Amino acid sequence: MDKLQALLPGKVSTEPEDLFCYGFDASGLEAEPAAVVWPQSVQDVSTILQFAFQQSIPVISRGAGTGMTGGTVPSKGSIILSLEKMNKILEIDTENMTVLVEAGVINGRLQEDLRRHNLFYPPDPTSMHYCTIGGNVAENAGGPRALKYGVTGDYVMGLEAVLSDGRIITTGVKTVKGVVGYDLSRLIVGSEGTLAVVTKIRLRVLPLPEDCITLLVLFKDLERAGDAVKNIIAGGLVPSTLEFLDHETIKAIEHFKPIGLPGDVQALLLVELDGHPAVITRESEQLGSICRKLGGDVIMAEDERSRKRLWDARRAISPALFHLKPGKMNEDIVVPRNKITEMLKTLKTLSAETGITIVNFGHAGDGNIHVNLMVDKNDQDEYKKAVQLISEIFRVTLELGGTISGEHGVGLTKSDYISLEIKPDVLNLMREIKRVFDPRNILNPGKIFP
Ligand SMILES: Cc1cc2nc3c(=O)[nH]c(=O)nc-3n(C[C@H](O)[C@H](O)[C@H](O)COP(=O)(O)OP(=O)(O)OC[C@H]3O[C@@H](n4cnc5c(N)ncnc54)[C@H](O)[C@@H]3O)c2cc1C
Repeated sequence: MDKLQALLPGKVSTEPEDLFCYGFDASGLEAEPAAVVWPQSVQDVSTILQFAFQQSIPVISRGAGTGMTGGTVPSKGSIILSLEKMNKILEIDTENMTVLVEAGVINGRLQEDLRRHNLFYPPDPTSMHYCTIGGNVAENAGGPRALKYGVTGDYVMGLEAVLSDGRIITTGVKTVKGVVGYDLSRLIVGSEGTLAVVTKIRLRVLPLPEDCITLLVLFKDLERAGDAVKNIIAGGLVPSTLEFLDHETIKAIEHFKPIGLPGDVQALLLVELDGHPAVITRESEQLGSICRKLGGDVIMAEDERSRKRLWDARRAISPALFHLKPGKMNEDIVVPRNKITEMLKTLKTLSAETGITIVNFGHAGDGNIHVNLMVDKNDQDEYKKAVQLISEIFRVTLELGGTISGEHGVGLTKSDYISLEIKPDVLNLMREIKRVFDPRNILNPGKIFP
């Protein structure tokens, strides 16, 4: 790595503490890279890739390392390319309703800056206070607001990216429409750092919604909560957020960050409606009536403080579960929304049959359930049982017409399962695309493909 140090003085480290700190992500997997590099410009990124291409050294792009599937975990001898110093918001174009950002900008910071301009960038992963827009693009991240507003890819207008041999490309348009040639931005979105290193992103933004209403609905019966989700959607309502938490999740929050939820609640929905005050008031009444008919106890957040308290609790779920079981295994399956109740019932049965506690929460409005297997990875028997259980959960998910990942991607943890969902011909086509972009297989090798 001496040559790389000489090419980018002061931007490369091989110190053991850096190699350790940049060797893991939120998946809990870890390995040691050969070096960590902090480029500060697209030219720096190009220099790193030209060097790595010549030497055939793997390069792992890294945002904030909040990925849940091991996407930034280094392979042997690799360089971690951290985008965290490329963190400028370059342009907020209020006339054309777009923003141009560097890949290392933190999602939550962009949201805050836009709010000051009365603008709104909807994709809000629950990790938004830490994760980067580059990481969001690479994972096509969703979040609680995806139900009404869609996911990251729906807002990407164009990209600047660096190819594996160091060539800098730009894709997409600055205009509302544009259909010239293949949509390469769309191809790079969700490619998990395997096709190119994203350095800049142009995003479309929206006017800030006028108002919002936040409701908490408590259920004493898990299945009734699933039915409520189905009936809300079938009733023509489109909340901006429709989050689901089961009893075990509520218990974990009360243990970690208590907000005083009753202990006999089997499930709750956190619902948010945004838009014109008169419209959302009417919609909240409709939604309340749907939930009450199913036995739900509907509580409205009275002010910004109580709304924030609810969201703090929602954002504390993952840390709370990690706190209880650091080795927990987290999957983010999606089923059609009218199959949520069936999926939840199956998960309950599978948990009882295997003796493995399964904690479920997630973006129920999208059918996206975060299924957490609360296992101890040091207990080999339990771990093996959990691995088999994951296969069974994926099998049922696909049988119900779902997908094995709604937002966390494949990375390392799901690569063995990808062929359950993607047919061999299509998987081969994906491999061929990878070869065109990355003929020496240096960009995040070993990720996505088994
Ligand atoms: C508590 C918690 C809550 C979460 N909630 C959500 C949620 O609600 N919705 C959701 O979708 N996800 C969620 N996640 C997962 C994670 O936050 C997202 O996947 C996020 O997009 C990752 O961003 P990051 O900057 O941390 O990327 P990293 O973890 O650093 O990287 C993720 C992947 O993207 C690649 N990558 C990163 N930057 C670039 C780049 N500039 N160019 C090319 N490739 C790149 C990496 O190689 C890796 O494969 C959550 C995670 C945690 C820990």
